[in-house]
Amino acid sequence: MSVEALAGAPGPTLAERLNTVVRPEFRAAVLVPAVGDPILGSPACAVPRCVHSSRYGGLCLAHLARWKQAGRPDRREWAQTADPAVMGHRPLQPCLVAECGFGQHRYQLCYKHSQLWDKRGRPPLDQWRPVLAEAPTPVCALPGCVLWAELDGGWCRSHHVRWRLRGRPPTAEFIAYCASYGEDRFDLRALPPALRLEIGYGLQCRVDAKRTRTTPRSIKPLLDHLAASGAESLLERPLTEWLAGLPAGAALHSPRAFLSYAIDCLLDLRDGTGWDSEYQRDVWLLRRLGIAGHGGARLDFTAVQPVWLRDLAKRWCRWRMSCGIGLGQLRKDRIAIVRFSRFTPGLANSAGPGTLDRAALEAYLARLAVEIAHPK
Ligand SMILES: [Zn+2]
Ligand SMILES: [Zn+2]
Ligand SMILES: [Zn+2]
Repeated sequence: MSVEALAGAPGPTLAERLNTVVRPEFRAAVLVPAVGDPILGSPACAVPRCVHSSRYGGLCLAHLARWKQAGRPDRREWAQTADPAVMGHRPLQPCLVAECGFGQHRYQLCYKHSQLWDKRGRPPLDQWRPVLAEAPTPVCALPGCVLWAELDGGWCRSHHVRWRLRGRPPTAEFIAYCASYGEDRFDLRALPPALRLEIGYGLQCRVDAKRTRTTPRSIKPLLDHLAASGAESLLERPLTEWLAGLPAGAALHSPRAFLSYAIDCLLDLRDGTGWDSEYQRDVWLLRRLGIAGHGGARLDFTAVQPVWLRDLAKRWCRWRMSCGIGLGQLRKDRIAIVRFSRFTPGLANSAGPGTLDRAALEAYLARLAVEIAHPK
């Protein structure tokens, strides 16, 4: 049976294996790569001490906007002197009333003081000395924010609004969201749970292989397409069918390559790697045998007939590989055996090596000389 023939709907085994091997950071519904992550991330912003990844021209989005506002001076020079504090990291300003620690709501005053100021007929602010509405309260739960907490979430007013707009997530999740605000991210929330885990596994394999950069932006069109496809698993369809159905935005090299890579990783996980699982197959995927650097290279024995000869051919090839024979020679070996199987009269229907007498071998050599001009 070929590898393709084995690729049916995923059994519970694959789900179980995914559950075991996918690490927690690749299970997140929203995966934010660390700044400067060599595979999933982007290099840090060129502004010293800026905590964001670069997006265009070596600058994060916030610094890029500020650089444009500055009239697009020499970018390198500008970056060296730019203020590293950007949106989400610049401290929010408190109410203008002395000793009030609530965040600003209107007129640069907190909610209560802005109401009171209106009631009092808006006196000049620098001469207005209202009584403090209440005693100092705990500060906002967001690290780095020193404003007083108000309302019911434990956040200052501004962070409360942002938290409410996010749908009131758990505290830790909201803190993580704010810390990565503006960062490029893999958003897998629109995918069904099984498919989400499969994509997470593909990303984890990319990170572990340390070879191909895979940024959120490069595969976003693919993720959008997968979400819209209604599929529960990448293995629901053969790769060719997926590729044929990709919309233009997802048909670029990166999304295509990632899709094909992720499916390979899942098949390897499902079918196992190493000789124990691969030897019994008639098509050997060399990467599963630890032979790296040949992409999707394979040794296909299906053309070797009959089965007893195929079994011997596989045994011989495995032995040759264990002796360190290279892939180029192994391919020639395989072709030689296929020719032997085709050109020896009666061999393809034989029950065992008993048919290989002198007459059969002479007939094989004669036919080989005719069919192949230079049988090397
Ligand atoms: Zn920046
Ligand atoms: Zn106030
Ligand atoms: Zn706050």
